Amino acid sequence: MKKLLPTSTAGSLPKPSWIAEPEKLWSPWKLEGEALQQAKRDALLLSLIEQEAAGIDIVSDGEQTRQHFVTTFIEHLTGVDFEKRETVRIRDRYDASVPTVFDAVSRERPVFVEDAKFLRKHTKKPIKWALPGPMTMIDTLYDDYYKSREKLAWEFAKILNQEAKELEAAGVDIIQFDEPAFNVFFDEVNDWGIATLERAIEGLKCETAVHICYGYGIKANTDWKKTLGSEWRQYEESFPKLQQSKIDIISLECQNSHVPMDLIELIRGKKVMVGAIDVATNQIETAEEVAETLRRALQFVDADKLYPSTNCGMTPLSRTVANGKLRALSAGAEIVRQELTQ
Ligand SMILES: [Zn+2]
Repeated sequence: MKKLLPTSTAGSLPKPSWIAEPEKLWSPWKLEGEALQQAKRDALLLSLIEQEAAGIDIVSDGEQTRQHFVTTFIEHLTGVDFEKRETVRIRDRYDASVPTVFDAVSRERPVFVEDAKFLRKHTKKPIKWALPGPMTMIDTLYDDYYKSREKLAWEFAKILNQEAKELEAAGVDIIQFDEPAFNVFFDEVNDWGIATLERAIEGLKCETAVHICYGYGIKANTDWKKTLGSEWRQYEESFPKLQQSKIDIISLECQNSHVPMDLIELIRGKKVMVGAIDVATNQIETAEEVAETLRRALQFVDADKLYPSTNCGMTPLSRTVANGKLRALSAGAEIVRQELTQ
């Protein structure tokens, strides 16, 4: 029988201090050339060992080989000029200097496939691999070529599909698309956001997930959250159509957030990665706190479809805190697993 409540993380894990400055988002690499390539592999292996030691059931690369969850993927594509930068509003929330699309975008070589093969070789556990979603990719660029968010999203969806198929062939069990933009651009989500996501998973036999969150615990995000009121109902906009979509798993944040838990009812039938770990605080949850969040979620999701997880990535946290949180996640899931099988 399949293990109930398999645990995983929503995304990134902290990097060791010898490869990038710790507790900092998008921290630049400390090494270069061959030394950096070797160090990335070492960091990936270490992240795997720490996840396994903490009892995480579905493991990942901890995003150890990427500086940024979107731009590292885009850096490998043609048609984007990283020298030519423009300032744009990201997620309608904060300004950032981003690269420019100046020509047709294409993927001339695999991006993460070698990393995935490396991870596969070192673990027997199921692997989940995160890729940026099409809408979040276009929201992190200045488009001087297609002049249409939708057109560029369809191009990225095709490219993501090529990468996803090779990741699947490399032995990845679940491919996750990160779409924080789904919590912001509701009309676009329903017009073409979910459709482009389905294009990205076309023909895949492995499981697929979409991660929709309120972001890392950075100031621009915590300031934004303060404007959202006492009930965060953003998921209400995308969930009905996602419930009808071909995506298998939906990843959302719950711990310490103002998301009304009953919104999960809107995706009944889907597997749900419930964020039971807050990534915006250094306070490590107790196992009982995690268990309580999972018990509440169980009112709206069947036990065999509940995947305990983190709210988002943990890159900006210290390794000690992140490891503590991984252990709390495992311990909390185990409490509820025992209750379910009694
Ligand atoms: Zn996230």
